[in-house]
Amino acid sequence: ERVFDSNSSREESRQEIFLRPKDFSEYIGQRKVVQNIEVMVESAKIRKQAMDHVLLSGPPGLGKTSLAMIIASALGSHLHVISGPAIEKKGDLAAILTNLEEGDVLFIDEIHRMNISVEEILYSAMEDYRLDILIGEGASARTMEISISPFTLIGATTRSGLLSSPLRDRFMAHLHFDFYEHSELAKIVENNSKKLSIGLEGEAKNHIARCSRGTPRIANRILRRVRDFAVVESKESICEEAVAKALDLMEIDEYGLDRMDRKVLEVIHDYYAGGPVGIEALCATLSEDRTTIEDVYEPFLLKEGFLIRTPRGREISEKAKKHLLSI
Ligand code: ATP
Repeated sequence: ERVFDSNSSREESRQEIFLRPKDFSEYIGQRKVVQNIEVMVESAKIRKQAMDHVLLSGPPGLGKTSLAMIIASALGSHLHVISGPAIEKKGDLAAILTNLEEGDVLFIDEIHRMNISVEEILYSAMEDYRLDILIGEGASARTMEISISPFTLIGATTRSGLLSSPLRDRFMAHLHFDFYEHSELAKIVENNSKKLSIGLEGEAKNHIARCSRGTPRIANRILRRVRDFAVVESKESICEEAVAKALDLMEIDEYGLDRMDRKVLEVIHDYYAGGPVGIEALCATLSEDRTTIEDVYEPFLLKEGFLIRTPRGREISEKAKKHLLSI
């Protein structure tokens, strides 16, 4: 089972919406990001103008979408959510931009994957709330200017370095999301268990927190899985054994690594004698897309010291070798 699945089911998305923090007080952790945002929101409200554009970067599942929703609600504005790669034509983005009302928030997920010709429309939109549309071809071609309502763009990306510099430079603030601490995840698990009307016994919430890869979305997944056990067994609370059983079924180990995390380490260990191995060769052996490995799996493995990046490629650490031997 893959814990990270970009094609998560409709039912899962519905549950995720239900568990979303509603305001800043419910939003746990990411203190630096939140402090910056709160000032920007306050300032926009006092100035009675659209908030400045902000770029949110960091691995998936860390609460970028949730934060965008909280921002829009704090501003008393409408939020429009779109996905960068889903906008294929300039006209599609132009239509979205011209439909915005004053002060609206436009959230573009995976903004680094937007088609470059579509992206170019954003430059003048962000800078001057204006669209420059080229009409006609050759000698008769001319540019038409369309003004749009002042709005706020919130861009989300896995790594800010993936953005073209003209786009990156037009964001007033660049805020980076880090993996969550265990204590923060434990708090999120506790709050969400209340929303799901299920109790947590003893070390259950800490166990879930430790095995969530620093990621609230994964903590939620584990929590919902364990909740199912409790429901089936007609229990009103989640015990530690149930957490252990669910983690076992989800193939998540005590460090929070899932099957794919371990596969990355195993491949380097078994096929490349522990490394170093270049990213291209590694992805080919894993039959995985490079960005998935670099954006989804590597950041946590690097942070936890299982993987080491060297100029000659990726190596696994002693900690990783010991862990592989123990499973
Ligand atoms: P992606 O980066 O892929 O867009 P995301 O960062 O948008 O993912 P969300 O969908 O916003 O992740 O968050 C997933 C879930 O995790 C939310 O529904 C919420 O329950 C929980 N969550 C995320 N961040 C926080 C937080 N700071 N405080 C409380 N709960 C959070």
